[in-house]
Amino acid sequence: MLILRDTEQEIRRAAEIIKRGGLAAFPTETVYGLGADAFNARALARVFEVKGRPRFDPLIVHIASRSGLERVARLSVLSPARRALAEKCASAFWPGPLTLVLPKQPELPGLATAGLSTVAVRWPGHPAARTLIRLSAGAGKPGAVAAPSANPFGRLSPTRAEHVVEGLGEKIDCVIDGGPCPVGVESTVLDLASPRIAILRPGGVTREELETITGPIRPALDAGASGAEHGGQNAGEPDAAGPNAPGRLSPGTLKSHYAPLSPLVLHDEKEMAALPREQDGAYLFFSGKSRDAWAGRDRAGYGETGPDGDPAALVLSETGRVPEAAANLFEYLRRLDGPRPGRIHAEILPEEGLGAAINDRLRRAAEH
Ligand code: AMP
Ligand code: MG
Repeated sequence: MLILRDTEQEIRRAAEIIKRGGLAAFPTETVYGLGADAFNARALARVFEVKGRPRFDPLIVHIASRSGLERVARLSVLSPARRALAEKCASAFWPGPLTLVLPKQPELPGLATAGLSTVAVRWPGHPAARTLIRLSAGAGKPGAVAAPSANPFGRLSPTRAEHVVEGLGEKIDCVIDGGPCPVGVESTVLDLASPRIAILRPGGVTREELETITGPIRPALDAGASGAEHGGQNAGEPDAAGPNAPGRLSPGTLKSHYAPLSPLVLHDEKEMAALPREQDGAYLFFSGKSRDAWAGRDRAGYGETGPDGDPAALVLSETGRVPEAAANLFEYLRRLDGPRPGRIHAEILPEEGLGAAINDRLRRAAEH
């Protein structure tokens, strides 16, 4: 696998790979994506294969222009009000970590959308991603790059090029190294194609931010709540009822996901502080304050240096800043998981803003 720098010249090489039907991993502001030409069914099939991703789990199609949006989504079939809402969301949050579920253009291969009549579309903000999508355009058509996260299915998402190399290695053609991803959790998926709009996955754009544009959004029925690990009710189902109909999960929104190899156990701040120090335990704290509350009652375990240099006790954000915690989440889970501790104990954040996206990932990781 080629490792490319994020210069225009090297991104062009990745774009050529995509145009020829290859697979190129690239940085976005959320996590690293594994990109393929969204209109090349064979390339899409390879994406599912190298990730071990079930075919019922639709991909997000990445665009970098208005014409790219129109090439993959059919806004004209939406009601005028819904269409206006889609336009408002796009202009408020694109480029950025928001994915919109919209009616699909018939020409887009069904493999990209797992056979659904809707497509998930995102216009990412990361400059390398935008350049790649732009340069992968061909024959007068704007670029459209289908890209799930660039990791084996179900495992921790990659937020650095090294994570991609570790997870997918020789199975893919190249990775563009753009350094760490600034947001660190996946995009928010907003369903605008169903009768009732819904957040199908919390992510980089917060519910609070979205609601300034959409008004109150009611919680999605069942979203991820009752696990469909092996396809279950989602597999091959027609979507006539819409992805948000009662009892229906967002396809691919699985109860167990984003999982480290060691078992993960979740606790609130108070429970964390009261945890005994286990010989083979690992600890992920939200803030320095939480870590200190825990370390204070169990200082003996540390010897003289205190907890700061302890590789088995990490703090997502020393000062308790949620965006910083999100950016560190997957990298720190990987670090703690590396020596395969008996258990990883992780602190749940306050359920607001980006905290909701972090907690969502932690809960799914703990289902493993
Ligand atoms: P990722 O695994 O980050 O690529 O995210 C893709 C996720 O977006 C899927 O697992 C689904 O939960 C959601 N998604 C993609 N396409 C659709 C769609 N057409 N309808 C509803 N949800 C979708
Ligand atoms: Mg993923």
